[in-house]
This record gives sequence, structure tokens and C-alpha cells, in this order.
Amino acid sequence: MDRRLPLLQQIHRDLDACRACPAMIGPVVHGPPVLSRVLLIGQAPGPREGSFGRPFAWTAGKTLFQWFESALGVDEATFRERVYIAAVARCFPGKAASGGDRKPDRDEIARCGAFLAREVDALRPELILPVGGLAIEQVLGHRGLLTGVIGAQRRAVFHGVETDVIALPHPSGVSTWHRGEPGKTLLAQALALVGAHPAWVAATRGARQA
Ligand code: SF4
Repeated sequence: MDRRLPLLQQIHRDLDACRACPAMIGPVVHGPPVLSRVLLIGQAPGPREGSFGRPFAWTAGKTLFQWFESALGVDEATFRERVYIAAVARCFPGKAASGGDRKPDRDEIARCGAFLAREVDALRPELILPVGGLAIEQVLGHRGLLTGVIGAQRRAVFHGVETDVIALPHPSGVSTWHRGEPGKTLLAQALALVGAHPAWVAATRGARQA
């Protein structure tokens, strides 16, 4: 058996039992233990994901998976089978006063980051796809405009593993960046880079539609 599988299964058991953040709203949400060298990192589940029991299960997910299907010929079911989906935080943070979802705070990010570090150590990803500003900041340390980071491939060390990184914008309905310019063009560039990356090619071999 691949040694990564029991490691990921233990991390998932530990995640399921975690109640470390008083302000977070359960249940804990995570995907299956996919043995992939491609790791996608979102921000945190929204209010619906807990009832579905999987990340990106609602409107943001529809947009995200549509990007991969239309640009790279990989549908949602295949993506979920071939790519490991993680997040900066695994519980719903609740709503912000502004109306959108609250961003996890520094302590929550640190606590949940311990799980992410274990996943990275187990998976040894060759390609990380951080989705949205918070995940991009964690992986690349980039806090500026999305235009400075989307559409390019970078090399980074994340939790001790050196890997390629291709950042993507957040697909939530709150964000309009990816619907106008230069967001549309930069998103298309980022997806083209993903499609050409050897780890993506290996992960999706036999699954891509013409
Ligand atoms: S956000 Fe992460 S660390 Fe906090 S309670 Fe949920 S699983 Fe635990």
C-alpha cells in the first residue's frame, strides 16, 4: 500500500475530532485522501459545505470546477478523484459584518495550518494551487494585488517542501476580479500553466476530454 494513504487517513481522523477554534462553526470539512501530487488549497468552507460533507460543494465550487472543465477538459468528479483538496481552515468561520464569509484569524490559521503541514509532508506535492488571497498569502507570502501573482508559475517552499505554485483567484460570487480584465486573461493564463504542468498531466492522464 502507498505509505501516504494511512498518513492522510490519520490526519482526517484528527481533523474530524478537532474542536480547537471556539469561533469556528462545524462540522469539519475535508475531501477524500486522494494520493495526488497536485494540491489545491482554498480559504475555508462556506455555510453549505458542512451539510454536503465536501469542500467547494456550493456556488464557488461550481465556478471553480467550471474553470477546469472549460479550460482543461477535466470535470468536477474527475477533479475530486485526481486532486487533493485542502484549505487554510476546515470549519466555516461564520459571516463577517460586511456580509461575506469571515476570514479565519491568525490563531485559527495557525491551528489549522498544523493539519495542512502534515498533509503537505505526506503528499510531497509537485504543484500547489492556492485559491484566493488568503491561501495565496499562506503559500507565497504575497499580500498585494492579484494581478501581481495570477497568471504566473512560481517556485516556493511550503511547509518544508519545494514545489511549483500556480495561484488562482477566489471563485466566490463576492469576488468580481476574475470576471473583468485583466482578471479574465490572467485566469486563462494560470489555467494554461496548470494544464501544461507535468504533475497535472500525470494526475489527469486518461481523464481529459478533448
Ligand atoms: S478550523 Fe481547523 S483547527 Fe480550527 S476547529 Fe476547525 S479543524 Fe480544528
